[in-house]
Amino acid sequence: MRIVRTVAGMRAAVADARAKGASVGLVPTMGALHDGHLSLIRRARAENDLVVMSLFVNPTQFGPSEDLDAYPRDEARDVELAGHAGADIVFAPSVDEVYPRGFSTTVHVAGITEVLDGAHRGASHFDGVATVVTKLFQMVAPDAAYFGQKDAQQVLVIQRLVRDLDMPVRIVPCPIVREPDGLAMSSRNVYLDAAARAQATALNRALDAAEAAVAQGRTDAPAVIGAARDVLAGAGVEAEYLELRSPDDLRTLDRVDGAALLAVAARVGRARLIDNRILEAAP
Ligand code: AMP
Repeated sequence: MRIVRTVAGMRAAVADARAKGASVGLVPTMGALHDGHLSLIRRARAENDLVVMSLFVNPTQFGPSEDLDAYPRDEARDVELAGHAGADIVFAPSVDEVYPRGFSTTVHVAGITEVLDGAHRGASHFDGVATVVTKLFQMVAPDAAYFGQKDAQQVLVIQRLVRDLDMPVRIVPCPIVREPDGLAMSSRNVYLDAAARAQATALNRALDAAEAAVAQGRTDAPAVIGAARDVLAGAGVEAEYLELRSPDDLRTLDRVDGAALLAVAARVGRARLIDNRILEAAP
């Protein structure tokens, strides 16, 4: 396991591996690793010769009132966990290395970034994501990159980015990893005190209820969303958004007909949590 901190060092390490015919897998993270991140590393390990995990808390994807400064950071722990899961290199550049003085380019993916998290975190959130992922792909030049379905909108944005800009990277979406009680793992779960931690299970339970509604043939959006909202209300959780959208282009759906993405965000205690489920109506 090596830690690389510069773009030049990263390029040299990948060039070396490529000269030996190695395939390269990249797992972008902001650290504070949990089993969700580790599942991506393990998948990358199974599919590539060289596995790079980037560790970079990207300031440009945080809004002015968000938790950039408070974001949990523990590089030594992350390096150890990443190594155990199978990473060969942890790429941990400084903010100045990624955004040197005079940096002035933004990558904007139109059409799917204005809704859901884009509407609620601010339009610049996904610009920050798209820009840093573009840069990471330039720095590491991976064959494949691994992203969690937990951030379903982020996966769509990156798939669109790669398609539109002809980036030679295979995007591999990976399933959501959950705690035993169903809460989606998140670096932000450390913000939850005991009461909020109990309340937070409502997000997954709400998605379960929506899934059950669809299984019973109640496929219209008000019924599906209502089933989920009732569970949230029962736990005293108010959704920031709870929306049924196309998993292909995020257009609003008025019923589950084929596959539909039900996405939720809510503030629980000190944390802002997101979760989602692909719902499928029986044909
Ligand atoms: P983050 O460090 O939060 O930027 O997340 C880094 C990557 O891990 C992203 O692709 C996330 O979607 C993914 N990820 C975060 N939480 C989970 C989870 N519970 N299950 C699967 N992937 C996850």
